[in-house]
Amino acid sequence: MIKIGVLALQGAVREHMQSVEACGAEAIAVKHKEELKEIDGLILPGGESTTMRRLIDKYDFMDALKEFAAEGKPMFGTCAGLILLAKNLVGYSEPHIGVMDVTVERNSFGRQVDSFEADLAIRDVASEFPAVFIRAPHIVEAGENVEILAKHNDRIVAAREGQFLGCSFHPELTEDHRFTGYFVEMVKEAKQKQLV
Ligand code: GLN
Repeated sequence: MIKIGVLALQGAVREHMQSVEACGAEAIAVKHKEELKEIDGLILPGGESTTMRRLIDKYDFMDALKEFAAEGKPMFGTCAGLILLAKNLVGYSEPHIGVMDVTVERNSFGRQVDSFEADLAIRDVASEFPAVFIRAPHIVEAGENVEILAKHNDRIVAAREGQFLGCSFHPELTEDHRFTGYFVEMVKEAKQKQLV
């Protein structure tokens, strides 16, 4: 069975695990860097990216996460998780993990609208997907190998670059597991390639 880890330092961990299980894969809460060796793909959940970064440093995760990416293993960043994956952050000189070729702006839907729900068309996933946005970031710029999967009000809110998947919203907060299912398929494909 495919094993998918959810980085469990902070944020919406349990909902992601339930969503992964609903897609027929095994979900593992990753609390120690050694656990990254046991999994085929990793979800970086929403939460607060600066807090998560502090915990990544505190628990000595950074090099292990970069190694995980360098091995070609799939990573899915949702909301704060997307901020962690991005190579560039608006207003910051350094990225966090910095592996996905996108520029991301934090809290970019304005203070007045802290959270909202929108039906999104997501390429290869759904013509209408209930997306929950909570103090969400968006992708300001995407590199040439990045496939844009969804936009909301002309802003890129979901994208894929090979092994990396990122979105501005929280796909784990509804009963619609299709976007998580898309990631589970990515992980299956990557694992099959590694076995060949
Ligand atoms: N605003 C948060 C940040 O910048 C992200 C919000 C979320 O993950 N729901 O880290």
